[in-house]
Amino acid sequence: MAEKIKKSDEEWRKILTPEQYHITRQKGTEPAFTGKYYKNKEKGKYLCVACHNELFSSEEKYDSHSGWPSYWAPVEEDHVAVSTDLSHGMVRKEVVCNRCGAHLGHVFEDGPQPTGLRYCINSAALEFVPEETDTTSEES
Ligand code: FE
Repeated sequence: MAEKIKKSDEEWRKILTPEQYHITRQKGTEPAFTGKYYKNKEKGKYLCVACHNELFSSEEKYDSHSGWPSYWAPVEEDHVAVSTDLSHGMVRKEVVCNRCGAHLGHVFEDGPQPTGLRYCINSAALEFVPEETDTTSEES
């Protein structure tokens, strides 16, 4: 894991759009079925929108019908950090980027095997990078 990134609120505001800032720095939640990735089935990686830490992959993405992009695991266990969130009268597990502390979403225990987990993530906290088409095999 690369070293942690720390920026002031003002610096984050300069880098992020108002929506991205609200979700990642103020623990906001985008309305269900409104984000740009919940329906995305393309192959590729999902990076932290704030620091470009690689968080999730299309390999572990599945359709949870929740209206948010859902994954049964992160790409690497230590690329995210999970803590208890007692806000809004609920007991939930908050998921943050382990490099910059961006709020990503929550993890629930009603996901598919092999983990049984559902990482329910805001599209606005992610940046999708499509898998590059492999052109090397065309040479020789
Ligand atoms: Fe990050």
